[in-house]
Amino acid sequence: MFVIALTGGIGSGKSEAARQFSTLGIPVIDTDLIAHELTAVGEPILEDIKRIFGADFFNTDGSLSRAKLRKHVFNSPVERLKLESLIHPAIHEHALKQLAENESALKPPYQILVIPLLFENNRYDDVIDKILVIDCDESLQIKRAMSRSRMTESEVKEMMAAQVTRSVRVNSADEVILNNGSLAELQDNVTAVHKKFIKTCIVKQ
Ligand code: ADP
Repeated sequence: MFVIALTGGIGSGKSEAARQFSTLGIPVIDTDLIAHELTAVGEPILEDIKRIFGADFFNTDGSLSRAKLRKHVFNSPVERLKLESLIHPAIHEHALKQLAENESALKPPYQILVIPLLFENNRYDDVIDKILVIDCDESLQIKRAMSRSRMTESEVKEMMAAQVTRSVRVNSADEVILNNGSLAELQDNVTAVHKKFIKTCIVKQ
């Protein structure tokens, strides 16, 4: 198994890049998506969240009020740790299971594991072979994050301040894609890096 961790700051273009890798036939597993699935209505983890944080963080239909909980843990490291210790082990377990399933069912040359907060909270050293960072200028990050999620500029900046800096990411990466141009340019860069990864994983095998 050959696993590429795909990471980058908010709005850098991780999801777009991941989509483009999947159009090249590469399986993509997104830890944010797993987190979402594990906290959907009816999932057992919701009971633990209710027990620890209270019913105030739930909507009347029983769904988790993600925005409220996110806000609650954002400014409190202790509360954040409580939430992370509850859901991160489950996300990790699911991600490893999906990687193993893809490996045996699809026998791909490599797989992409999207881990937005890789450098802030890395639990995946055991499976990652290479790190790919999607990078872009901060002004573009802000513009793109705002247009995608209707966040205000100050909310995006607040999230960026809680993440590692661009230079930390770029200096820790095996490959960096600069996503300052068009989506077509991003696709060209994804295709070029894809060819490199194919060569690298053939050498490893
Ligand atoms: P992330 O997953 O890193 O937070 P996304 O991939 O969701 O970021 O990108 C944020 C927004 O910017 C999305 O609406 C996406 O379609 C757009 N976007 C990303 N890269 C480009 C690009 N090169 N050109 C134009 N729009 C882009």
